[in-house]
Amino acid sequence: MTDLLAIAAHPDDIELYVSGSLMRTADLGGSFAICDLTRGERGTRGSAETRGKETEEANKIMGIDASRRCNLEIPDGDIRLNEENRGRLVQAIRHFRPRILIFPSVSDRHPDHENAHRLVREAWFTAGLSAVETEYQGRPQEPYRPDIQLTFCHVWEFEPDMIVDISDQFERKLATIAAYSSQFTIPSVNTNSDTNCSQEPETLISGENFMEYLIARMRRWGFIIGARYGEGFQKLDSPIKINDLRDLL
Ligand SMILES: [Zn+2]
Repeated sequence: MTDLLAIAAHPDDIELYVSGSLMRTADLGGSFAICDLTRGERGTRGSAETRGKETEEANKIMGIDASRRCNLEIPDGDIRLNEENRGRLVQAIRHFRPRILIFPSVSDRHPDHENAHRLVREAWFTAGLSAVETEYQGRPQEPYRPDIQLTFCHVWEFEPDMIVDISDQFERKLATIAAYSSQFTIPSVNTNSDTNCSQEPETLISGENFMEYLIARMRRWGFIIGARYGEGFQKLDSPIKINDLRDLL
């Protein structure tokens, strides 16, 4: 059982968009796990091996070990809605048994992000069906469906339903992003020039322009809730059950 399971298409998506909220939950005594769908091997910059090492570095900063982060090794750029992929994700959901599932929003410029949304939606439902049997390390798994589904956005923005104050986690969040030195340039963080693949082609999200935008977005969302920095989420579908309206306070 874990409080949060965050699922994303590529290693580094979690760091960019939700790592502040994950670390905040952990800082407040909760738990989280991460599931990356692909190894990001089709990325313009870096290789799957490089990104694997960068993920290990980011995990250290977030305070989790390899047992709390899985990679389903679905081909990058080819996240299909099929039985095999859905089955792997059902296994991961039943293994971690999260109370809250966090995954990509329904629309984005990158098809992998949209396909990840649909795959997680199907796996979320399927994971709760007792007729669908799965095993993990040779042992049968119990059906399990998380109560709450939250989505995060990538480049195509949404207006969040809720914003988490990540001011205390902001610097560590930047460090998790900087761990992916093959992918990003962060103006305010010194990256290791030995590992920084600055000679590689620029992408939409590799340069300072993107990072300044991302920081501005966190700053804007933070301002709205009276904090310095924030991460936004949308809830999916049905209303969230609240036992007492004071839970909102
Ligand atoms: Zn991505």
